[in-house]
Amino acid sequence: MLIVGNWKMNGRRAALGELRLMAEAAASEKGLPEGVALWVAPPATLLMAAADVAGERLVLGGQDCHQGADGAHTGCLSAGQLVDAGAGFVILGHSERRADQGESDALVRAKAIAARAAGLQVIVCVGETEAERDAGAAEGRVAGQLMGSLPESAEGLIVAYEPVWAIGTGRTPAADDVAAMHGHIRAQLLRLYGAAGAGVAVLYGGSVKPENAGELMGLADVGGALVGGASLSAASFLGIAEASG
Ligand code: PEP
Repeated sequence: MLIVGNWKMNGRRAALGELRLMAEAAASEKGLPEGVALWVAPPATLLMAAADVAGERLVLGGQDCHQGADGAHTGCLSAGQLVDAGAGFVILGHSERRADQGESDALVRAKAIAARAAGLQVIVCVGETEAERDAGAAEGRVAGQLMGSLPESAEGLIVAYEPVWAIGTGRTPAADDVAAMHGHIRAQLLRLYGAAGAGVAVLYGGSVKPENAGELMGLADVGGALVGGASLSAASFLGIAEASG
């Protein structure tokens, strides 16, 4: 199980204390259940300092990258710069970026290609809005996002299914709906990549907390969690990891 924390636009240097506790648990024999891995994407301002406390077992990542190489793009970060700062992965196409920055599927795919070329593992986020789910259009929406956003190769790729209406709201879909969507995503991955599609981890994201992680992580084709709010404190993030084992 892969448990990934997304700190979003949260965290200053004081938050490195929480990260240190996460790193200690990841490094300790008894700190995490067997087969559970912890990844965290702090804000880019903390990445280099986080690399000093993360140790060998807590993998750090970025929350976005530019689709191009280093150059004249004020305010942006390249995938290579993330690697240089200590990142091993990057989250791309999060619904907040799709909504706030107007990121298209094509842009997300270009970023994914750039990130893979720089050696990062890539988490591509997809998910429907509440209106799309209510209209019975959730599976079609997610299939469209996968077709448009995913790179040509499945290598180094992870998909996160995050229903937009479940992010930061405390609401989660019914377990049957999560399982059905993950099965649908798996079918799309097999169609796109052939047998290699079977090896792509599909994470669930949206209001995961220690109390619901056990049920969600036990569902078919759920390979882990992408966690926002509950990843900011070591107690709740490690509680999710514990419940996921
Ligand atoms: C997220 O934004 O990726 C997320 C899942 O947030 P939260 O866990 O706070 O719902």
